[in-house]
Amino acid sequence: MAGPSLAGRHVLVTAGPTYEDIDPVRFVGNRSSGRMGFAVAAAARAAGARVTLVAGPVALQIPGDVERIDVRSAAQMYDAVMAALPADVYIGAAAVADFTPAAVSDRKIKKGAGNDGLVLELVRTRDILACVADHRLRPALVVGFAAETGDLEANARAKLHGKKLDLVCANRVGVAGSGFESSDNTLEVYSAGGHRRMGPAPKTTIAAELVALVAARLGEQNDPAAAPPGKDG
Ligand code: C5P
Repeated sequence: MAGPSLAGRHVLVTAGPTYEDIDPVRFVGNRSSGRMGFAVAAAARAAGARVTLVAGPVALQIPGDVERIDVRSAAQMYDAVMAALPADVYIGAAAVADFTPAAVSDRKIKKGAGNDGLVLELVRTRDILACVADHRLRPALVVGFAAETGDLEANARAKLHGKKLDLVCANRVGVAGSGFESSDNTLEVYSAGGHRRMGPAPKTTIAAELVALVAARLGEQNDPAAAPPGKDG
């Protein structure tokens, strides 16, 4: 792959949705396919990194030389990510559930006479990305994703500062040809000092571009004099 190498670096990526169980047969999930995160993991491996991929429930394959840890819930993803630190780079591409049922029923919840509605109590999950960015083993670069339907830039920048991230990759969801369940995407990548658009293009192309940006930023951190002139983001 052209561009800076990630040889000798450990890149930790999350991908896919999480499933939050309600009872033995039902869960709360979301429409993430995992394709963006899997493409990022494959691109980081192609750039020479050692890659750990923590994946929610998805029907995707990854090259065998990527260490893949399959999880189901946000709590399991949190544990797997923390156990995989330290890393040089964290890329949180998973669509982690923000809420999980307060209690999991150990028996299938039944409808029945007098049972015309069901109130499900949900509680907040831990924010894995924010915890990684705040961790004593904080990776040198922490990258988040932001799936937005509203004001992309304002929401992305709020996330960048609020979660203490180095980069936020925002994409618009709810439109054709981008975001969830699509093989193409457009990313608006924000950093404290800049913005760069990637795509519209296949997620694999965007992943390679994002990994090249990450590698360049890591290189700049190690050797500020090596910063390419006019580099944005
Ligand atoms: O705040 P919001 O959920 O939109 O932020 C999305 C980013 O935060 C994604 O990178 C996602 O992986 C991460 N996230 C997380 N843990 C959560 C919720 C979101 O790591 N519980």
